[in-house]
Amino acid sequence: MVARGQLSIWSTAAGAKGAAAGLGLKRKLGVDFDELMSAEVRNLEPGLAVPVEKGVFYPKARHVRDPEALVRRFHARFTDLGGVTLTEQVSRTRVHSDGVEISTDAQTLAAGRVVIAAGAFSRRIAGAGTERLPLGCERGYHLMFAGEAHRLTRPVGWSEGGFYSVPMARGLRLAGTVEIAALDAPVNPNRLAYLARRGRELVGPLPEPTRTWLGYRPSMPDALPVLGVSPESDRIIHAFGHQHLGLTLGGISGRIVADLVEGRRPDVPIEAFRPDRRYAQLSWRR
Ligand SMILES: Cc1cc2nc3c(=O)[nH]c(=O)nc-3n(C[C@H](O)[C@H](O)[C@H](O)COP(=O)(O)OP(=O)(O)OC[C@H]3O[C@@H](n4cnc5c(N)ncnc54)[C@H](O)[C@@H]3O)c2cc1C
Repeated sequence: MVARGQLSIWSTAAGAKGAAAGLGLKRKLGVDFDELMSAEVRNLEPGLAVPVEKGVFYPKARHVRDPEALVRRFHARFTDLGGVTLTEQVSRTRVHSDGVEISTDAQTLAAGRVVIAAGAFSRRIAGAGTERLPLGCERGYHLMFAGEAHRLTRPVGWSEGGFYSVPMARGLRLAGTVEIAALDAPVNPNRLAYLARRGRELVGPLPEPTRTWLGYRPSMPDALPVLGVSPESDRIIHAFGHQHLGLTLGGISGRIVADLVEGRRPDVPIEAFRPDRRYAQLSWRR
């Protein structure tokens, strides 16, 4: 994790103008940021090739240079504490008076409580109260350019491009776009080509990407996560729907889930995230 802040840029006057309302709201909510002129942006990131109309610098933002290494460290700690990992596909849960039965592709397990945290796939687990939730998926793509991390010193989000460019341990990553498509729909090569083309506009010539990836952002209609006890049973806890922010919000969600499992009241209000909240009002609430 490195603390070099984060930069958002706009390359057109119309784009910069359109950002005003969102920035006003952030200011009101106490988010710390500095608005920058084009020359100040270039000073911070001389590797940018795109025209810059305006920038916003978030000095307190941090970024993870190697998410895989981070997850491996979490897993090692989990194992040290006595956690056991099984790599199996869960198809169903059944609640009994004294526990929950979990059916996987390999066996049936018994548990006191179960946490459903299968991201966008959480609806596919039968019997857990997830099947009828309006959980959708915003698919996103990434390209990795090994050896190109030196192009930037911090994550740069290009508003008109709809993606971030991030210097990471394994190279420069371009990640973003939102594709509303079925979970099982094939990879869309046009999205990958778009990212490569716009990435070259952003930072100048780049070699062929060394790796590509399609990811699934689990999203609810109100853009809030689902965190709380299932309407099926208080033995089942839902923890998914973190849309674009699953890594950022994972720590605090984990603490909330631990509280719910241990029967403690979480120290942040979670009423807005309850699995049985109503969504229908959203269409006419203004
Ligand atoms: C291009 C892109 C860029 C992103 N950038 C950021 C970012 O910069 N910062 C940020 O905070 N977030 C970012 N996100 C969002 C983030 O990736 C998601 O919010 C996050 O992955 C959701 O975490 P999750 O654990 O709920 O789901 P997932 O990460 O999808 O994990 C779900 C897990 O459940 C497993 N699973 C599924 N079904 C079953 C089953 N039936 N039985 C057993 N296991 C099952 C899956 O194998 C998987 O391991 C980005 C997403 C994309 C696509």
